[in-house]
Amino acid sequence: MSFFQANDPVFRTYVLGNAPVKQIATGFDWVEGPVWFGDAGCLLFSDIPNNRIHRWSPGAGMSVYREPSNFANGNTRDRQGRLVTCEHGTRGVTRTELDGSITVIADSFRGKRLNSPNDVVVKSDGSIWFSDPHYGIMTDYEGHRGEQELPCCVYRVDPDGRIEAMVTELQCPNGLAFSPDETRLYVADTGRMFHSDPQHICVFHVGSNGKLSGGEVFHAIDPGCADGIRIDTDGNLWSSAGDGVHCIAPDGHLVGKILVPEHVSNLCFGGRAKHQLFITATTSVYAISLNRRGMQHP
Ligand code: MG
Repeated sequence: MSFFQANDPVFRTYVLGNAPVKQIATGFDWVEGPVWFGDAGCLLFSDIPNNRIHRWSPGAGMSVYREPSNFANGNTRDRQGRLVTCEHGTRGVTRTELDGSITVIADSFRGKRLNSPNDVVVKSDGSIWFSDPHYGIMTDYEGHRGEQELPCCVYRVDPDGRIEAMVTELQCPNGLAFSPDETRLYVADTGRMFHSDPQHICVFHVGSNGKLSGGEVFHAIDPGCADGIRIDTDGNLWSSAGDGVHCIAPDGHLVGKILVPEHVSNLCFGGRAKHQLFITATTSVYAISLNRRGMQHP
């Protein structure tokens, strides 16, 4: 069986006919938030219900990186290479400093607690953008059930620590990604999950003053939802979906799919040339080499 589906013939040049979709780790409950550390040659990812961040490298395999992880979800790196993590358990976003200490970047807005930060990206100006849906406080499975104090927004934290609500009109903002030139911000809206609520990716235009405009639907994901999204160097958007990873061109059309045997939650580029896609999918992590390179920093 082929591991990909080309909806546009160009997708055949994005994939490699002899590169498998390889399961590199399994046995988890719900994996999310993959991030590649090129300097350490390893991948970190969260197993949210089991309250751990795991580390995987091609040579050493699996180990536990952090336990408890405060029910960590999305991870990324800032422009200095530091790990930035969304935590359901603390209802906050943290940064792991180079000496291993942990700094809280945000856990409240205007005196009210955040919901459960889900996914995060860092812009080239050092600002940290994260989504704050309520999934991590709805039940005790992926955090601690708690009172929702704020609507589900996307926030920006400036390097001076100032926090601002940037996207307030989506139901449940989730995955985030900037286009390579940072003139667009893509935000996945996953609604209430598994219902008929929005399952689409919206696109916002980033003005030179940092303000957002637009917010129209860029692409509707089917089946499943766009939990996590990443961008390649040509601006194609790679999104999680119910049947694998979907590749969507900058004009919004579906270019093709990588078929994965489990429900995909998130993905990131990594490997020697950022030409590999690491895919978190329910109980397992998969990897595949592509003829594309990701925009992930650093
Ligand atoms: Mg997510």
